[in-house]
Amino acid sequence: MFKALVQAYARFKGDELFLPTAHKWRVPTWVIELDENNRYFIKGPYGREDHAPLPAPDRQRSGKVAGGNLKPKLLFDDPRYTLGLNFGGDKNSEVDLMHTGYLNLISSAADSTKEPLLAKVAYLLQSSLVNELKRDFISKRKTELEARAKERSRRGRKGWEVIFSELWGESKGELITFSFKGAYLVRLPAVQRFWAEHLKDELVIARSQCSICGEENDIVRLIPGEVTIQGQNCQITSFNERAFDSFGKRQTPNASICFECATKAVDTLRYLLNPRSRHSYNVVGDKDATSSLGRITAIFWISQSIKVEPSELNMSDFNFDTLEDFLGRITASEPPPAIRATLETIKRSLKAPYKPTPLTAQTDFHLMLVAANNRRFVLRDHISQPVSLILEQVERWLQASEIVDYFGHQRVPSLITLTKALAYRPGSRKHNLNPTHARTLYRTAYTGTSPSYGVLAKALSNFKNPKLFELADSHDGKLSESRQTAQLMLWGLASVIKLWIAYRKGEKGMEQLEERRGSVPYLLGRLLAWLERIQWEASGRTLERTIAQTHFGIASYAPALAFGQLLKSATIAHLPKLKKSHDNKQAGFAVNAEKELGRIASSIGKLPKTLTLEEQAEFALGFYHQRADFRAKTRERKEAEAEVGHE
Ligand SMILES: [Zn+2]
Repeated sequence: MFKALVQAYARFKGDELFLPTAHKWRVPTWVIELDENNRYFIKGPYGREDHAPLPAPDRQRSGKVAGGNLKPKLLFDDPRYTLGLNFGGDKNSEVDLMHTGYLNLISSAADSTKEPLLAKVAYLLQSSLVNELKRDFISKRKTELEARAKERSRRGRKGWEVIFSELWGESKGELITFSFKGAYLVRLPAVQRFWAEHLKDELVIARSQCSICGEENDIVRLIPGEVTIQGQNCQITSFNERAFDSFGKRQTPNASICFECATKAVDTLRYLLNPRSRHSYNVVGDKDATSSLGRITAIFWISQSIKVEPSELNMSDFNFDTLEDFLGRITASEPPPAIRATLETIKRSLKAPYKPTPLTAQTDFHLMLVAANNRRFVLRDHISQPVSLILEQVERWLQASEIVDYFGHQRVPSLITLTKALAYRPGSRKHNLNPTHARTLYRTAYTGTSPSYGVLAKALSNFKNPKLFELADSHDGKLSESRQTAQLMLWGLASVIKLWIAYRKGEKGMEQLEERRGSVPYLLGRLLAWLERIQWEASGRTLERTIAQTHFGIASYAPALAFGQLLKSATIAHLPKLKKSHDNKQAGFAVNAEKELGRIASSIGKLPKTLTLEEQAEFALGFYHQRADFRAKTRERKEAEAEVGHE
């Protein structure tokens, strides 16, 4: 993984969103603007809405401030470091130390870069001018906070003085930076280079061979910098996939890595995680997951840029910007069936001799699944494959996962839907995710590996949850949100079961009801759906709970035990009752249903005692397909009736 990121550095470093080494996007609260005559103007306070983020020098800062532990940030730090101002909460002696450290850093940056603007800042902060600057800063802050406190006090019950003192204490985290006639000093290349070199001196422990570039180089003691995942700032302690097993708690020893490789990898990772670069998305975000361990972010990229016009390939019809975007996001979206034709065009065009960038065997697509756990970076998986192979796999995936939804429309669910379906708890909005399942599904989609038995077992156990059908079939208006979720999750689970069969057994089809499919478990599933429908009609469509809700689990596991009684009630009670009905539609239905029941039952023959896990998968699909088919037919009939009505 480390190597892949270092290699990707060359491709992305020129992008305007790519940060210089050891920098982070930050919005300054205050900008001290200088001019030729050593005059200054304090501009601010700014927030996200009124100031664009700047590349701010960044570093780890932890532990108690002491002579040996001073970690100022160059030209981008808070009032304690920048001006030596104590807003409370710190000892004066500590703030003095912070400010001294900051001044020393500016001086040494000015010396080493010979940058006259840095010398200007150093002069301002070390001459007598600084006292005036501090006074101005404090009074500007005071005026601004007073106004804010009075405003809040008018709306609340607290006195403005109380609010003011709270705000005053909070202001120690505000960031101050410098500009000269509108140009920010942190943007100067010499300043950025100095910062990287400065950090390097602190981090390097030895000279040895780097395991990534193979050069005799300066080896770092820890990986510099943090990355932001789902709003959490995470320290990278390890790039090992093993970190997953230890949940990132144990510090796994890294191989020797040089400063250059380490920073290239982190800088690239930050770029890819920046939402504006469109190289990542949340598979399961914090709004969906019960625990931080369940949150997963996917990052993707191609090792070299491939120029393919989206419009030429109809990709823009589906909102994909580039081939890279297409490969990364196709599994995360729910594309209409027409996407298959586009995929074919892409494959053909990449093979064509005139293509602008030749696809070589080395053009790899990369996908990483990452998470943040207790402010630590956790790598769940890293998949890398040649683009040509990925295209084949994605096509296979779309085929394998496509299935009718709850209402009988044939569609492809997204990997996000499938991941959530496996973690679904009916009635709860949060999902209890097992990251291994998400990982397995991504592996299947992008590498063609068959999904594990664990995934099937989980899908079936969720499918058997009576609460799932209860919610999906509910007519209660108050439950509409839960109902929609349950219907979506049911579709997702059916898709997982279907794709499991497709990959394990190499079977095609099964997108919708297959009336000719002779598999006994599949027929049994259909039989249960018919029995449920018959019972439902016979009850006058008023049942609280259907037999699917009460009997699905046992019927899919021990058919002989469950079906005897169910068949008896249908043939002795429900069907005769329906046939006697004065409603012609009901009587007609009963005749058809009896025929269908007989046909299915005779194809089944003797009822099996138990079904294996794989057979239960067939059972679930038979049941699901048959129900979706009922809904599709009802819809078609209603549409036809509506047409007639309009004529
Ligand atoms: Zn190296």
